[in-house]
Amino acid sequence: MDFSRHFPIIGIEGQRKLSESTVAVVGAGALGSWEVYFLHKLGVGKIIVIDRDFVDESDLPRTVYTAEDIGKPKVEVLKGRFGVIGHFEDLNPGTVSLLDEADLIIDGTDNIYTRQVINDYAVKNGKPWIYVGVLATYGNVMPIIPGKTACFRCLMPRLPERPSPTCAIAGIMSYVPPLAASMAVGLAARILLGEEVGSELIFFDTKTLDFEKVEVPRREDCPACVRREFTFLEKRIKVETLCDGSIQITPPEKMDIDFEELGKQLEKLGIEYISTSQFIQFEDDIYEILIFKGGRMVVRGAEDEREAKSLFARYLGG
Ligand SMILES: [Zn+2]
Repeated sequence: MDFSRHFPIIGIEGQRKLSESTVAVVGAGALGSWEVYFLHKLGVGKIIVIDRDFVDESDLPRTVYTAEDIGKPKVEVLKGRFGVIGHFEDLNPGTVSLLDEADLIIDGTDNIYTRQVINDYAVKNGKPWIYVGVLATYGNVMPIIPGKTACFRCLMPRLPERPSPTCAIAGIMSYVPPLAASMAVGLAARILLGEEVGSELIFFDTKTLDFEKVEVPRREDCPACVRREFTFLEKRIKVETLCDGSIQITPPEKMDIDFEELGKQLEKLGIEYISTSQFIQFEDDIYEILIFKGGRMVVRGAEDEREAKSLFARYLGG
């Protein structure tokens, strides 16, 4: 590609630096696929992608994928189209070494647990990363430079107290992920070229056209960037198949699920549920789901542990 239009801004030397850089993208869905697209157009030399999902018809409006990609592993499609190095894996404490080669990491995930894993890894290894989150019509982008800016755990010290909605539940407009991805890649370029970035979260809403920068201070007692306790690299989501064939998922840290809030979300989806002080029970398609106060989830009807884990991410992970 001819990158000469970049030269007035970053110089030939800057472009060369980008061509020698390695960036890892975690997740290849709405965010990740667009992040790869923009990294490729930026001229980043090596792009690593970690994702364990297949292209689904419902992905098409908000990703770079097209109809002929349906059913293929996302990383394979990105490999063919943009020459990425694809790993058909989930990012977890057992696979974080896939990030070792990267100079910088960009978030293309849709859940807080994986973000905490990336954050622990990045802070521990002094590697910059960019948190990106989108939902409905809005998005968040925040650069994290270990030792300089606040980290993701300064922003979110625990897993969420109540389940935050995921895109599967709250929806997402097609034009939101590429905007967030473009901003994240712009920040990545600046960091790779050695420019200073602020300790701030950028928030935008395409509905109101609000655009805000919120300063995020480092938390004095942050478990990750101050105390250097990398709990998310040690603890894993526990997945067990119970004797009746149902699958139980236990989060790495105890949560405090707000059943009223979760009930409201289910109502919006037209899902009937039974709620007691200890658990909430409902059916989603072929699955029967039981969620306990502390975040433990039992799924009946799931084919395998992976299917159960994606339900956990859907209802409790975002
Ligand atoms: Zn921190």
